[in-house]
Amino acid sequence: MNTEIKLKLEKLALSKSIPFCYSCYHECPSGRCNSCGTDDLMQLLPGVACDYGIDWIIESILETELTAVNLDEEFEESIRQCYEETTKIGWMNLDTISVMKSHDPISWSSAQSEWESMEAEEGNIVSFDNGSTYYRMYDIENLLEELELQTP
Ligand SMILES: [Zn+2]
Repeated sequence: MNTEIKLKLEKLALSKSIPFCYSCYHECPSGRCNSCGTDDLMQLLPGVACDYGIDWIIESILETELTAVNLDEEFEESIRQCYEETTKIGWMNLDTISVMKSHDPISWSSAQSEWESMEAEEGNIVSFDNGSTYYRMYDIENLLEELELQTP
């Protein structure tokens, strides 16, 4: 993904969380524990959790600030734009998408997975939890801009 955005999100995550020594069980704002001297610290996100790593903090911030992408809906919408709304089968005019989905759900879901990886590769959507939740890059960029305006 876009490195600049990733760095900004990491910076944001660090500014919202506090280094925490789990062995001594206290906060270490300096980045080093003043009791045992370690710099192998967890990050405490007040009211949420305390853990190693930073992606979970980014995920938690995005979850609070943004609406996750509804992949089912968006994929369906993108397909709707490519085909006729209804398809005639025999004498019946049926909703094209509904027929496709119910006739061959496996083909539908594999096309959806391909579409998801393509969107992710192109950087339109991004995930911080290994693909179970996606956010729109556009929304993330707007959020970062808003936050930058708030902090001079
Ligand atoms: Zn310590």
